[in-house]
Amino acid sequence: MKPISIANTSQQNPDRKAPLSIRGLTVSYGQSPAVFSVDAEFPQGAMTAIIGPNGAGKSTLLKASLGILRPLSGRVTVHGRALTDQRHRIAYVPQRASVDWDFPTMVLDVVLMGLSRDLGLLRPVRARHRQHALDCLDRVGMADFADRQIGQLSGGQQQRVFLARALAQGADLYLLDEPFAGVDAATEKAIIAVLKTLNAEGKTVIAVHHDLSTVADYFNRVLILNIRKIAEGPVAEAFTDSNLQTAYGGRLATAQMGATG
Ligand code: ADP
Ligand code: MG
Repeated sequence: MKPISIANTSQQNPDRKAPLSIRGLTVSYGQSPAVFSVDAEFPQGAMTAIIGPNGAGKSTLLKASLGILRPLSGRVTVHGRALTDQRHRIAYVPQRASVDWDFPTMVLDVVLMGLSRDLGLLRPVRARHRQHALDCLDRVGMADFADRQIGQLSGGQQQRVFLARALAQGADLYLLDEPFAGVDAATEKAIIAVLKTLNAEGKTVIAVHHDLSTVADYFNRVLILNIRKIAEGPVAEAFTDSNLQTAYGGRLATAQMGATG
């Protein structure tokens, strides 16, 4: 058989232009790695669920992708470029429990934080900034709460506000850590609708997700993680019983019932 001689550069360099590409990522907090030697590709316009059992390194992988954690080894590129130049293109919605609002902050101001790159620290907030923040709140159904204190909102309402802050940033890559954890059903619907709209606009969405029963409905790709990468790819190919068994082992039964992970 004649060898194929035409070089397919996108196959040779699959990470060249991907919104997010991870190569050989190892992250450790102490003795043993939390994430070990992971290669992962998040293609343009994909909507990817990162799944895996509790302690699998899902949050760690997101934080290392954002440069919040320094990896032991490996490389993260954003649109083929070093993370440091591109950090502003990534919007991050952290796990809700990790944010403790013990000082009074108005909802609108939380959303305006998403504009900090445009605003700078010392520039005044203008009417058009406020309007933009309000529009973002409107997209998540929270416009009526603009002048409430964030700490007084329910968990689901807070999560919508954090999503509005991410929207305000105008990023093209969205990283969310368990956006549906501990939110009410209406909020879950509102959030997935916004994420699907972003995705339809060509944005790349990556979310740590713990409810295996909604993976196929909400996402078109998965990254299955248990310290190492178990599998990645389109849901139809990678989200298999065998891969889930490898990742979750005996915990699969509870994971499928929607236990947190
Ligand atoms: P997941 O999000 O998949 O549940 P994490 O990324 O939060 O997993 O954690 C992966 C592993 O790293 C766990 O064993 C966890 O205990 C550990 N870990 C996470 N954060 C820290 C930290 N700040 N210091 C020490 N160990 C940590
Ligand atoms: Mg986590």
